[in-house]
Amino acid sequence: MNAEPHASLPTVAADASDWRWQLQHAVRTTDELAARLCLTEAELAGARAAEAAGLPLLVTPYYLGLIEASDPACPIRRQVVPHADEARTVPGDLVDPLGEQAHEVAPDLIRRYPDRALLFVTDRCAVYCRFCTRSRLVGAGGGARSEERLAGAFAYLESHSEVRDVIVSGGDPLAMSTERVLAVVARLRRIPSIETIRLATRVPVVLPQRITEELLSALRPHHPLWVMTHFNHPRELTEASRAALRRLADAGFPVMNHSVLLRGINDDAATLATLFRGLVRERARPYYLLQADPVRGSSHLRTPLDTGIRLMGELQGRLSGIALPKLIVDTPGGFGKVPVGPDYVLARDGKMTRFRSPHGVEVEYWDP
Ligand code: SF4
Repeated sequence: MNAEPHASLPTVAADASDWRWQLQHAVRTTDELAARLCLTEAELAGARAAEAAGLPLLVTPYYLGLIEASDPACPIRRQVVPHADEARTVPGDLVDPLGEQAHEVAPDLIRRYPDRALLFVTDRCAVYCRFCTRSRLVGAGGGARSEERLAGAFAYLESHSEVRDVIVSGGDPLAMSTERVLAVVARLRRIPSIETIRLATRVPVVLPQRITEELLSALRPHHPLWVMTHFNHPRELTEASRAALRRLADAGFPVMNHSVLLRGINDDAATLATLFRGLVRERARPYYLLQADPVRGSSHLRTPLDTGIRLMGELQGRLSGIALPKLIVDTPGGFGKVPVGPDYVLARDGKMTRFRSPHGVEVEYWDP
């Protein structure tokens, strides 16, 4: 499948500081990519394969500008430039790693927990990340979901008042027009049992121009609205993306960040510490460090579970609690998220527990 242009956007956008210009001028083909970067043979093969089928190629000019043109190991590049290794599958790979299709309770509505649901409002993003959990559906060509298509999901939410928290996702909801985002949020707000709405978006990272005063003014009346963003590397914290985070915080949006742990991209403690501290400085809370889901064709970007546990051990006690996310494994099949990390309990004996502190000191704790 090919990445289609964002058809609902106006045909003329002024310049590179305009988010619509960024989407209209996004790189979608191997030739466009090869004109901007010195591609390796493996990247060329990967880009041609992505053009022909599967997860399409798409990168905004802004995000492309963060890539080292001649460095195949660039951590920005490896997130979005296809690679021949995507054709490789390993045991445990899954097309739908979180079992979302099996948990679909209405068209485009996924429910895996009693109090929460996930609503897919579009299949478009501003970039296509090569490790995307939803690579089976992003960029598939459907675009923004119409109100009619989402009617079943809204009806389900109206009749299931135990669902209090809706995560608006896709695709990337903020890659849609403001009118469309607002229509979805306003429709959800008409359901009294929904307390929290979360917008899951990579836009502050890959298209920070999208966080406009127009968007914020439209959404502000519908608080509490949370933004769940997805920074993976400190080089993504540019002046533009940091300003976007500040605009969100100033407009009253709590901002939580998911990072995905990725091989050769952010799998070292110094990189993660710089990223998490940088996020906190902009009032974005590092929330989850996600073990990469076993999505088919992403094994070259995934780390062993031991890597994440070791890194959490190195960061615990070194970073302030507000800068330290939980390491999470989202269990294959959609059975829920499990926090994992180093084991600090060495022994338990009656009322006594012996801990190993983050600095390696053994300490006894006595129950009353
Ligand atoms: S922006 Fe999110 S949904 Fe879109 S491709 Fe990247 S990880 Fe997947």
